[in-house]
Amino acid sequence: MKTNADTYNPLTTFADLPVSERLGRAVAEQGWDAPTPIQALALPELLRGEDVVGLAQTGSGKTAAFSIPLIEALDPKTKGIQALVLVPTRELAAQVAAEITSLSRHAPVRPIVLCGGVSIGPQIKALRNRSAGLVVGTPGRILDHLQRGTLQLGTVRYLVLDEADRMLDMGFAPDVGRILSHTPDERQTALFSATMPGTIQGMVERHMRSPHRLTVEAEAPTVDTVEQLYYRVDGRDKTRALRTLIDAAEEPRVVVFRRTKHGATKLHRQLERDGYRSGLLHGGKTQSQRDKTLAAFAGGRTRILVATNVAARGLDIPDVSHVVNYDLPEDADTYVHRIGRTARAGREGVAVTLLGDSERKEFDKIRRSLPAKVHESSLPLSA
Ligand code: ADP
Ligand code: MG
Repeated sequence: MKTNADTYNPLTTFADLPVSERLGRAVAEQGWDAPTPIQALALPELLRGEDVVGLAQTGSGKTAAFSIPLIEALDPKTKGIQALVLVPTRELAAQVAAEITSLSRHAPVRPIVLCGGVSIGPQIKALRNRSAGLVVGTPGRILDHLQRGTLQLGTVRYLVLDEADRMLDMGFAPDVGRILSHTPDERQTALFSATMPGTIQGMVERHMRSPHRLTVEAEAPTVDTVEQLYYRVDGRDKTRALRTLIDAAEEPRVVVFRRTKHGATKLHRQLERDGYRSGLLHGGKTQSQRDKTLAAFAGGRTRILVATNVAARGLDIPDVSHVVNYDLPEDADTYVHRIGRTARAGREGVAVTLLGDSERKEFDKIRRSLPAKVHESSLPLSA
């Protein structure tokens, strides 16, 4: 695999990119001054048609890094699905589709979003009716369409796995493998994530043609504008600690992570009972509930979002002030993705882990594999 040293291209402005005038205009209208480092590395490679594994911090603009070349790759004269973007959650599918729509505003490509939780009829209609060129979706529903024969992927030329390590882990790998077997071998493939454990290297190579591995060298996979703290709440009430933290924050916009749906539901109920309006996001909710909850939080109508890991990957909600690990994340990579919901695109944020007695050993293990320091702190006021 080639590395940065072979391919480094110090792209300093978007204007240097070999893209169509219409796309260049749309990029300019995003109000972005310059490409982010991963965009500077990946855009020239992808626009040349190379396969890329892009590894860069949370919130560093990976979506546009794969979306700009994707839009350029679409040929309006060709029929059939030309590009496929696979993501782990429905919310992320919607977000990626929205970014592609925004970037292609002068040459609309209208992605079709294929996710579960909503009825399949309209999706089938969309696939049949439109000269559909691009699908963004989650593996389960895409497989469903493949099995029904309502989706054909034999004409795909550009494939993206966003949150690639998640897409290739045990939970998703079989489905993703099946989906990819419906696509031609002769295709361009892009994998992006903030974390890429060595254990999936074999998988990566199986799906790609001598990919260029592009890594934005950084000390940590999370940006250093996240202040990382932990509070020991030994023998104390974590919910009370959380309330104290929220009370002390000036304009809190807090994502609180719990491991289970049950735990999230319970905490949400407690907070509401105590007068803290909050949203609840987990995989057991209907899609319309999930959409409403996320919209209310993104729009600032609720300032607290209690969620399971369904919200840990990829979501780009501006101005999240705090991420709170109410329950410990399962591993260091999950920690990285969870706290990456704050401090996006150069902003600042605080990540707080509430540490109970019994969790210390497990947390030490996580901390040891994090390059950045997590500092012990005490709760504001006296909790
Ligand atoms: P990642 O996928 O790396 O976590 P996203 O693609 O979600 O990050 O982008 C994070 C935020 O950065 C988004 O709000 C996006 O609009 C913004 N962004 C993307 N590219 C740029 C850029 N070149 N300059 C400034 N902001 C950008
Ligand atoms: Mg992303």
